[in-house]
Amino acid sequence: MTKAIIAGNWKMNTSLEEGLSLILGMKDRLEQFGNITPVICPPFTSLVTMANLLKESNIALAAQNMHYESHGAFTGEISPSMLSELCQYVILGHSERREFFSENDHIVNKKILAAIESGLKPILCVGEDLATREGGGATDYVKNQITAALKNVKDIHQVVIAYEPIWAIGTGQSATEELAQEMMSSIRDTVTSLYSKNTSGNVPLLYGGSVNPSNIGQYMTQEDIDGALVGGASLSSDSFTEIVSIAARNGN
Ligand code: PEP
Repeated sequence: MTKAIIAGNWKMNTSLEEGLSLILGMKDRLEQFGNITPVICPPFTSLVTMANLLKESNIALAAQNMHYESHGAFTGEISPSMLSELCQYVILGHSERREFFSENDHIVNKKILAAIESGLKPILCVGEDLATREGGGATDYVKNQITAALKNVKDIHQVVIAYEPIWAIGTGQSATEELAQEMMSSIRDTVTSLYSKNTSGNVPLLYGGSVNPSNIGQYMTQEDIDGALVGGASLSSDSFTEIVSIAARNGN
């Protein structure tokens, strides 16, 4: 298995100055955990500064979105090759992109293919809403999202999958570790059915949804959970460092 990944999604938060203060408040501490890859996902406006700051660091950098086209008349968009100069990862298909910017599985698939082509590792986000969960359709829903997002993807080794139940994002209502593990095991099976058992074991599966220092330990001890995608709690250098530190002690 590859190193566990703890990614901090800052979303549309932090000015350049605030972002600098956040990263400088945790950089030295995050660099101590050899068995974890910390990934920070600041807004686009901070990427150049962060890339320079993290050049010699084990802390990886991710963008929160990108376009699938390589260049051209797409005002306001950022291409995979532009990001690959700065980042190692890119978050794709986050539920907020799907909900507020009409991203569907087809668009997410195009983005995943384009990211891999440019040498970026996509962090593919999937997850059901509350109605789907309560209706008993969560497993099939997530399976379909993954199958659609990975259409024609050959290099699955580049892909990270984050299971983020929508009802747990930013709500403080984190999934139980049993529920998260059950879905992760199903995701692993889906990847196995699309590729092979050997391959699926090496695809990092992250849990996301109200992760904090009090609950990260319980996720990291689950068989199929290889890390976390953290939103709110990544906006505090102390909380994020604590999450990484607990993950480093509790990983499989
Ligand atoms: C997220 O937005 O990816 C997320 C998991 O947010 P939070 O940790 O705040 O629930």
